[in-house]
Amino acid sequence: MLNGRSALGGDTIVAGVIGSPVRHSLSPVIHNAAFDALGLDWAFVAFEVASGATAGAVEAVRALGLGGMSVTMPHKDAAARAVDRLSDEAAALGAVNCVVPVGSELVGENTDGQGFLDAVRLDEDFDPDGRRCVVVGAGGAARAVIHALAGAGASQVVVVNRTPANALTAAALAGPVGVLGPPESASDADLVVNATSVGMAGEGSPLPGLTLGAGQLVVDLIYHPSRTALLVEAEAAGARVANGLGMLVHQAAHAFSRWTGEPAPVEVMAAAATARLAERASPGN
Ligand code: NDP
Repeated sequence: MLNGRSALGGDTIVAGVIGSPVRHSLSPVIHNAAFDALGLDWAFVAFEVASGATAGAVEAVRALGLGGMSVTMPHKDAAARAVDRLSDEAAALGAVNCVVPVGSELVGENTDGQGFLDAVRLDEDFDPDGRRCVVVGAGGAARAVIHALAGAGASQVVVVNRTPANALTAAALAGPVGVLGPPESASDADLVVNATSVGMAGEGSPLPGLTLGAGQLVVDLIYHPSRTALLVEAEAAGARVANGLGMLVHQAAHAFSRWTGEPAPVEVMAAAATARLAERASPGN
């Protein structure tokens, strides 16, 4: 096994994430822990890339011979236009979160939906097949979740969103099972997902005053803070709850396997992310 990053050398394969802001991204921690665990001579770094510079950054995968690239906000849509070819998932979403070099070609993939499904199936023992799901939000993360839930056989995917036009576009990704609904739809759903940014800054629930309870799984895609007001309220009402760390780790695991061809050490990746978040939450950080 490599001794951490100290073994970097001429043969080291570099991968990275582009975003803005990106300095707080957990991706380097997650992927470097996985490379170390498998003894791979790879290194993962974060590239702060301004909006508008996506195409050049994606082309750098080819020019620099990078092993792979993660793509986060605000570049996901522009990256879909910059790659040579899109996976079916990325084409449906019009967004790329992972660039995979295949020979001389750059393939744009989107592993967010698969990451979400793995998080609910493997970590929460929840199978969306035949279940009624409510997704709050209609942005990039919501669209990946909506598309994935429909693909996993959800009986209904109700989209609740502040701006109805965005909700319509997002619900269409679920085909015939996608509908728009009011916040109250969440009360009798099997799965409720917050895919808005409401709660990131410690503000209240995106579903204020709503009755959630036993028999429901409530997932907040936010993972920092680890317990949003929505999760605190839902848990107090008897619902099972999970934050977005599972999705983050599992989407990274899919990217890792695409790039390296190796099964991802998911537990190592999750432990590294959890440890870094705990460091950040400790006083003085
Ligand atoms: P977008 O900017 O694409 O979408 C934001 C969504 O939040 C929109 O639906 C927007 O509604 C809604 N929203 C924003 N502010 C408010 C508000 N004050 N009241 C009501 N609705 C609001 O962001 P993303 O989809 O990329 O990210 C959404 C969340 O998901 C973030 O918290 C992000 O951190 C998290 N995320 C987690 C991931 C994970 O792996 N765990 C991966 C990606 C994202 P409108 O359409 O009306 O503007």
